[in-house]
Amino acid sequence: MQVDELSKFGVDERIIRKIKERGISEFYPPQAEALRSGVLNGENLLLAIPTASGKTLVAEIVMLHKLFTGGGKAVYLVPLKALAEEKYREFKTWEDLGVRVAVTTGDYDSSEEWLGKYDIIIATSEKFDSLLRHKSRWIRDVTLIVADEIHLLGSYDRGATLEMILSHMLGKAQILGLSATVGNAEELAEWLNAKLVVSDWRPVKLRKGVFAHGQLIWEDGKVDKFPPQWDSLVIDAVKKGKQALVFVNTRRSAEKEAGMLGKKVRRLLTKPEARRLKELAESLESNPTNDKLKEVLVNGAAFHHAGLGRAERTLIEDAFREGLIKVLTATPTLAMGVNLPSFRVIIRDTKRYSTFGWSDIPVLEIQQMIGRAGRPKYDKEGEAIIVAKTEKPEELMEKYIFGKPEKLFSMLSNDAAFRSQVLALITNFGVESFRELIGFLEKTFYYHQRKDLEILEGKAKSIVYFLLENEFIDIDLNDSFIALPFGIRTSQLYLDPLTAKKFKDALPQIEENPNPLGIFQLLASTPDMGTLSIKRKEQESYLDYAYEMEDYLYRSIPYWEDYEFQKFLSEVKTAKLLLDWINEVSEAKLIEAYGIDTGDLYRIIELADWLMYSLIELAKVLNAGGETIKYLRRLHLRLKHGVREELLELVELPMIGRRRARALYNAGFKNVNDIVKAKPSELLAVEGIGVKVLERIYRHFGVELPLLKNIKDPDKPEDKPKEKPKPKKGTLDYFLK
Ligand code: ADP
Repeated sequence: MQVDELSKFGVDERIIRKIKERGISEFYPPQAEALRSGVLNGENLLLAIPTASGKTLVAEIVMLHKLFTGGGKAVYLVPLKALAEEKYREFKTWEDLGVRVAVTTGDYDSSEEWLGKYDIIIATSEKFDSLLRHKSRWIRDVTLIVADEIHLLGSYDRGATLEMILSHMLGKAQILGLSATVGNAEELAEWLNAKLVVSDWRPVKLRKGVFAHGQLIWEDGKVDKFPPQWDSLVIDAVKKGKQALVFVNTRRSAEKEAGMLGKKVRRLLTKPEARRLKELAESLESNPTNDKLKEVLVNGAAFHHAGLGRAERTLIEDAFREGLIKVLTATPTLAMGVNLPSFRVIIRDTKRYSTFGWSDIPVLEIQQMIGRAGRPKYDKEGEAIIVAKTEKPEELMEKYIFGKPEKLFSMLSNDAAFRSQVLALITNFGVESFRELIGFLEKTFYYHQRKDLEILEGKAKSIVYFLLENEFIDIDLNDSFIALPFGIRTSQLYLDPLTAKKFKDALPQIEENPNPLGIFQLLASTPDMGTLSIKRKEQESYLDYAYEMEDYLYRSIPYWEDYEFQKFLSEVKTAKLLLDWINEVSEAKLIEAYGIDTGDLYRIIELADWLMYSLIELAKVLNAGGETIKYLRRLHLRLKHGVREELLELVELPMIGRRRARALYNAGFKNVNDIVKAKPSELLAVEGIGVKVLERIYRHFGVELPLLKNIKDPDKPEDKPKEKPKPKKGTLDYFLK
């Protein structure tokens, strides 16, 4: 199907022109099938095709066509913040047609009314769910929901959110689901009342095989010989002028393999490549995780995992796309979304370790990794190779290459998700009775899949009891639900009701004995906070620490036989980390002492920040004393900025973080007043305070920078308007001239 043929479906010429401007004149077969399915007439569609086969373009056309013909708004749902940013950059190109594009993630306690001005809104599922709960006014204008990576409906901790959003929007807006190939696409389409387009067509041909001790056995039975170690597959690819992407099961393996592979591909780099890589490595900020990265990056290798900061991840992705990084090792999170194809994909591990011991990685996930092979426009063919270690090659072939991916299952079965969603239905979505609640739940994929009313009712009942017992809701004489302020706020704050209950139960103790460690342990004990894992050899010292600090904790220390013992210790570890953070222990030290990566540190702080905010909000609803609220607010600020009490005033200034604030304080500038009174030259003498920072601070005070000239100290020799040499660009003198 030619792009021009879109006009037959009433698609505006301007949309067609823009697609052609991208150099696309013909649609891929599954795209054509999707566009002909009725989706352009407003029908729901589930499009299950491999990655990189052009799902996004279909979504763009459907969104634009909808906006041009019917107005309203399109919401594009993604599973990760990083993907939201990626899509935002892509969709922004439509702004020359007058379409306004916005992205919204984070902050779950806001209705974001400003989004009303936009036509395409990109959001993570969690964010959109929270917007639904806040009843943002513009939501009634939403006429289309695109659910990207809709197969994540089956993911344990996130799936239920997406499922509930779709249950809310079904029948109210058109739905376009974009999915990887799953075992039961028909069932999902049926639930969505959607047409189904399934295909395994790919823009680049794909060759799949299994590598076992030097033999590369292709799916068609052909065999290629290699040296016995699998790393020969990487070196072979790089020698061919191509790249390799290696999936492994842990972060540490990713780092270790990147180190080893780097040593081997280093000599295959050209001089300019080596120079560029060195520059890239030098541009990275120094911290323990980045230091490991820098070391491998100069060799043309890198690792990609959730422990990296966002800036580093983007840098690696860009350098890999550019072809500069020759081999990238990654944990499976990379296969989830980020568009990073490679000529050769090598899957080193098909098993992983979790709380339940070793288990096979699902076919769906392995096939997502396989799908990364082959770079459109660069490769005629992509290669995906699974490495057999102790496994029999033919079994791997059967399961992962010829096998069908798993079926998706509703994750409303996850209690935490169910609890939170039932509360939201009652407090935010006006569900007034148990009947009505069941009526709504019957619209879910959970019910569609099981058709067992008894189980559904049983589950719902036990949650309703929990909510009643803990005063989230009440019930009147006619058995109608009454949403109580505590319940309403819990739901708006996007908390698991169990978290809110823990906060409520601990509040009297907080009032009596407010202290950071007790509060942080409380935050860490909630189901909304992921805790750090604890190693066997660390257990004793954290137990000692807990005993030492027993008077500060709001709970008793469990006995080691208790099932919660281990979890408790990891909560103490998390609490101690946060305590160190607000006592200004450096990031590098924290990362080392707690055995985490940079990305983890910031994730933990971000989570604790949100939970601390929520604790304050709930304390207000529960009528906590003014002194307690004041205490919590200050602690929240310390947590946000990672500082001791005395720096709180300074960190409120623009561009002043924990490090600069400490430097200013130690130099004698202890509050805003000291800074106002100080001479610019004195401030500039403080470590980390450059002209840019000073400029922002002065602007904050309402003093524009040219005035800097006027507040110069005439007694200082360098300030005298004498015959000075011409200032060099980029220097302070140049700036002040
Ligand atoms: P998906 O969303 O399925 O992972 P994308 O939409 O990101 O895939 O498409 C991958 C790449 O293919 C993009 O660079 C896109 O511009 C390009 N592409 C999409 N459709 C076509 C087409 N019909 N012809 C040529 N290139 C296309």
